Amino acid sequence: MYTCGPTVYDYTHIGHARKYILDDLIKRSLLYLGYKVKHVMNITDVGHLTSDQDEGYDKIEAGANKYNKSVWEIIKFFTEDFLNNLSLLNILKPNIICKATDHIKEQIRQIQKLLNKKYAYDTPEAVYFDTKKFKRYFKLFGQNPTEKLIAAREEVNTGNFKKNPTDFVLWFKAVGRFENHIMRWESPWGVGFPGWHIECSAMSMKYLGEQFDIHTGGIDHISVHHPNEIAQSECATCKTPFVKYWIHHNFLLVENEKMSKSKGNVYRLVDLIEKGYDPMHLRYYFLQTSYRNTLNFTFTGLEQAKNSYERLINLLTNMYIQIKNKKYIRNIVLKKYKTKFTEAIEEDFNFPKAISIVWETVKSDLAPDLVISTVINFDKVLGLKIKQKIIDNVAKIKQAHKLIKKERLENLLKDRMLAKQEKNWKKADEIRNMLKNRYNIEIIDTESGYYVKLK
Ligand SMILES: [Zn+2]
Repeated sequence: MYTCGPTVYDYTHIGHARKYILDDLIKRSLLYLGYKVKHVMNITDVGHLTSDQDEGYDKIEAGANKYNKSVWEIIKFFTEDFLNNLSLLNILKPNIICKATDHIKEQIRQIQKLLNKKYAYDTPEAVYFDTKKFKRYFKLFGQNPTEKLIAAREEVNTGNFKKNPTDFVLWFKAVGRFENHIMRWESPWGVGFPGWHIECSAMSMKYLGEQFDIHTGGIDHISVHHPNEIAQSECATCKTPFVKYWIHHNFLLVENEKMSKSKGNVYRLVDLIEKGYDPMHLRYYFLQTSYRNTLNFTFTGLEQAKNSYERLINLLTNMYIQIKNKKYIRNIVLKKYKTKFTEAIEEDFNFPKAISIVWETVKSDLAPDLVISTVINFDKVLGLKIKQKIIDNVAKIKQAHKLIKKERLENLLKDRMLAKQEKNWKKADEIRNMLKNRYNIEIIDTESGYYVKLK
């Protein structure tokens, strides 16, 4: 499984979080269903321009200018920010995380292959992929060929050397607008840097082979990035299909609008944490919408998700407390519910339905330990940290009880001293006996006062 990773030029926001949570849910589902999963994710740290169609500036250089840091500092800083988000959201780490800048050789090799087979052409400004040579290019993912051409023409300044508007860059040369490009490497076609798309083909093939099972990405990759990946991969290897299953995650809106800096609606996970939310509240929220649908993020929605999640944890905690001997919690998964749960995730990863089955299990009249062990089993897919949260909750409750007990004890000791001062020996003895019988505490009087002894 190959999942298109982030371009590390700015902070990770909740739109990214949705994409990586969905990838994680899919991966966890496959593992739950018994598949072996080798998960590769790239980190784009060169070549992704401000337009997916090779126009504009290099995003990393733009980020470096914005934050007044070097490109290498930007890459390091935002990669760490991204990985930190993944871990807060309880996302399983991919088996391989690979950076474009660590795989320049592999990319050059792929470009050379395409040139040798005449699918690519060298020009003074760049090496281009010739989209006219790949017949299926204009029909991939059910695109309309005419619309695709028009869109490409509108967005792209064809320049003097590009043969077709849809052709895309495999290797940028450090000339013209990129004369001062900071990140640059030697290549058979001169000093420069790779285009964005080629990294995904080069790295996925290196780690997963020339053909593999699953490739995910945002729905915005349907028009340019993924068709380009297919074109350059299948032409280089002469093998079809490059990927068996493409999974495209739909967008996240915020209060019905596209996220944008100018609207001030770009939220990061840390913003939500500052507002008192747990990353699991967001994860629970995102679970409730299929990857195929747009999700409209609202704070009302997040609040509802928080309430549902906390209610679930509280119900399970109460059940846990009811179990007398925790050592004997059976490690059993209720077959009836497991079948339903499995059917839900097998049904195009229907997590909203899977969540409803969790609730069905919790509300059933089965023994508490069975409910708990079943829900914890489902959490292998959901990744909601259910077991940990129950244990944390129990610890909190115990701590609260301890405090109450301590306060009560202190009050009793005070009352006894008062009774003694008032020479109310009867009352003082009553308290002494109660402390002994109920709390196993013995009071030893001394000349200056008293001390207590645990029996
Ligand atoms: Zn990609």
